[in-house]
This record gives sequence, C-alpha cells and structure tokens, in this order.
Amino acid sequence: MTLRVGQGFDVHRFSDDPSRRLVLGGVVVEGAQGLAAHSDGDALAHALCDALLGAAALGDLGQHFPDNDPRYSGADSTLLLADVVALVAGAGHKVVNADCTVVAERPRLSPFVRAMAEELSRILDAPVSVKATRGEGLGAIGRAEGIACLAVVLVERE
Ligand code: MG
Repeated sequence: MTLRVGQGFDVHRFSDDPSRRLVLGGVVVEGAQGLAAHSDGDALAHALCDALLGAAALGDLGQHFPDNDPRYSGADSTLLLADVVALVAGAGHKVVNADCTVVAERPRLSPFVRAMAEELSRILDAPVSVKATRGEGLGAIGRAEGIACLAVVLVERE
C-alpha cells in the first residue's frame, strides 16, 4: 500500500455585491458577506480540491475547471469537489482523511465548522476535520479583506 499526502490553499476577497452568499465547505453562512469569485467562491472546497489533486499528482483546480469558462460561472463548488473526488478515485486513490483550516477575521465561523466537516466528509466518503481561526488583525486576512483556507489530504493506493 502506498500513502500520499497533498496540500491545498485558496484565498478569496470579500465581494462588494451584497446579494452574494458566503459559502464555505458547502455550508451557507447566513448573514455574512459573500466572497468574490467566478464560482460560488467556496474557498474551503477549492483548497480541498487542490489538496486532493496534489495527493494524486493530477494538477490543480484551475487546470480542470478554468475560472474563465462560462460553464463554471456561479458553480456550486461542492459539485466540482465531487468531480475531483471521482478523478482521484479513478486514478486508484482512496481518501484516508482530510484536515482543513479556515482563516477568517469575520464572521465567527465556529458555529458552522461542524456542518462543514459533515458535508465535506459526505462528499469525500472519509473523515474530514474543519477548524476555524482568526488573522489576529495581521495582513489582508486580519483586516477582514477576505478569507483564506488550507487543506491537507492523505490518500492510499493498494
Ligand atoms: Mg478559489
């Protein structure tokens, strides 16, 4: 059995469009400002996609789903994540687990991380952990200009 690790990172700035919803890990964070993006802006799903693709050495999210492709305008990123899971499985890898961190000055995400972990675990069919932390006022994330997400995935192949 071969074990492989992959890591992913994504960052999106907050949108000026008040009608955009904040979606992280497939969960809508009610009442929060949304993130600017070609897709739904789910930076957590995007970081997890890149971690999965990295573990399988299958490139990155932008290669598979170009952000200038009109098919992905407003795309539900959990559907992209499901496609990535299928790609990785098709290459013979089974997900062992994933661990994710969301860095956000606001909104307060701790009430939502459990639902995010459950939704992502369902899509990956493997345990997924989601943690939330703040930027402590440092840099762009600390000034609440956007949200950054990190993910690590372990996969195994027989
Ligand atoms: Mg992204």
